[in-house]
Amino acid sequence: MNRTREVEVQYIKKYAICPKCGAKRCGRHSIGRRRLRDLGQEKPLICRVIYSKHKCKECKWIFSNPKSEIFAIKRGRFTLSVMREALKCLIECGMTYEKTKQHLLKNYHVKVPIPTMNDWVINFEAEKYKGTISLEARYGSTKKKEFV
Ligand SMILES: [Zn+2]
Repeated sequence: MNRTREVEVQYIKKYAICPKCGAKRCGRHSIGRRRLRDLGQEKPLICRVIYSKHKCKECKWIFSNPKSEIFAIKRGRFTLSVMREALKCLIECGMTYEKTKQHLLKNYHVKVPIPTMNDWVINFEAEKYKGTISLEARYGSTKKKEFV
């Protein structure tokens, strides 16, 4: 019985630029894996992200291929798409947590605990996701005018 769909994306590079000191051509150190819950159609969807980790040849910092972070926040268990959908419901549409939870479960087959969504709202309002998540519509003064 396979009730969950899984997709895999790979971001494996031989070299990367150190985000800390800017050193170029930092070689691969290891391979990281993340399993993220995504918005599903008809059944739950898991997005497996396989990515390279690199060790800086100058400062010795070990970092993940930055491309792997376009899918989720650090240590997040859900994709940014799930977060965006939840935040849209809660902030833009003013839906309750319970209703948002039901909406995500019914339409996207993803179960998000209310405390998790509550953290997202708090962090979003504190602008901790700036540059990562933006809601297109009118939302206070943080609105980004990308398509003007
Ligand atoms: Zn470095």
